[in-house]
Amino acid sequence: MNPARRREIILGKLQAQMRYCWEHSPFYRALWSDAGVFPESLRSLDDLVRFPYVKKDTIRADQAEHPPFGSNVCCPPEAIAHLHGTSGTTGQPTAFAISRDDWLRIAAAHARIMWSFGLRPGDTVFIGSFFSLYLGSWGALIGAEALGARAFPFGAGVPGQTERALEYLDLIRPAGFYGTPSYALHLAKVAQAHGVDPRGFGFRTMFFSGEPGAGIPATKRRIEETFGASCVDTGSMAEMTPWMTNAECSHRQGMHLWEDIVFTEIIDPDSGSPIKDEGEGVPVYTHLERTSQPMIRLWSGDLTSVTDDPCPCGRTYRRLPDGIYGRVDDMLIVRGVNVYPNVVENALAQIPGVGPEYRIVVERPGELDVLTVEIECLDTSIASTVGDRVKHATGVSPLVTVHPPNTLETTEFKSRRVDDRRPASRA
Ligand SMILES: [Zn+2]
Repeated sequence: MNPARRREIILGKLQAQMRYCWEHSPFYRALWSDAGVFPESLRSLDDLVRFPYVKKDTIRADQAEHPPFGSNVCCPPEAIAHLHGTSGTTGQPTAFAISRDDWLRIAAAHARIMWSFGLRPGDTVFIGSFFSLYLGSWGALIGAEALGARAFPFGAGVPGQTERALEYLDLIRPAGFYGTPSYALHLAKVAQAHGVDPRGFGFRTMFFSGEPGAGIPATKRRIEETFGASCVDTGSMAEMTPWMTNAECSHRQGMHLWEDIVFTEIIDPDSGSPIKDEGEGVPVYTHLERTSQPMIRLWSGDLTSVTDDPCPCGRTYRRLPDGIYGRVDDMLIVRGVNVYPNVVENALAQIPGVGPEYRIVVERPGELDVLTVEIECLDTSIASTVGDRVKHATGVSPLVTVHPPNTLETTEFKSRRVDDRRPASRA
């Protein structure tokens, strides 16, 4: 669609959404009244910047004050069909209450987007991730069902399950795979240990969320070469489900922003202004179709860059050509240099013989920060090459510790690869 015409449609949807929120959400009435804005304040999409951000802390505080779901449920209790929530082991959880109608809309949106990256009715989609509070698996499941594909909700995390997956994959031969990049690489390692070539699974399209790996060029290439399949990066945030509204198409040139489902501003963190054509910023998300717990201007805290260069697929949605490559809060400052963990991963993944597991440890034994990169490799003499590549990529000279293969703790879900051991008083 012509982007200008699409913006008109988005404006109409957004105005209706804001009126709905004002009528049904004590949360937004309070937030917007305090900021002196009202649904009528939105006359064009440019007016959206006048509305305050919603931050994760604000949602948690609101849920603590109005348990269990907060003051932004917006639908009657009997309309709620699914309860989900944050699955982290620390901090106060955030509960998600999703209505029956929204569940169907999420399925429809995901089906539409899964088509764009190459899945088709009749394909079998192997879902190799937890079925629990984690919304990723459920979004992939209902999207596959709505598309007319066959969902294979295999799950993950049970001892011995990956070995069992090898048998099922051989038996069923699914065209599609969903999981985290860490889990796909773990699956490949287990397969290879059993003398099975992961290319033999016959996956055609592998799509990922939950971690940035599928958008990191060298990790993407590693997955594509290991499995002989397309590696597709998707995903925004659990709060924003349908989370696939950031998703690569089958050309895999960065995630498109499906802005008529979730309107996505890329905000320059210094000026607070949206980036119109190209540049780096923080995605700020607004639900246009959710009527239960709608998010209006949810601040993601992620870092990305956006472009409106045309995509060979013909879609006119803007793209994030380098994926979501960091978080404003996760960036490490080591000896005054900004270090993004994903940049380190991309450097490591380009060195032949270096395994996919790694750790980044930052310490301050004396006056200065010390960055240590721990990797797995048979050849310990690779340390100097690794040190040079990481220095070249980040500007910081690391210490390198080489461990034998399969000795670093492996991850079946989201990796925790950064260990910052410096005193908490750091800036
Ligand atoms: Zn495209």
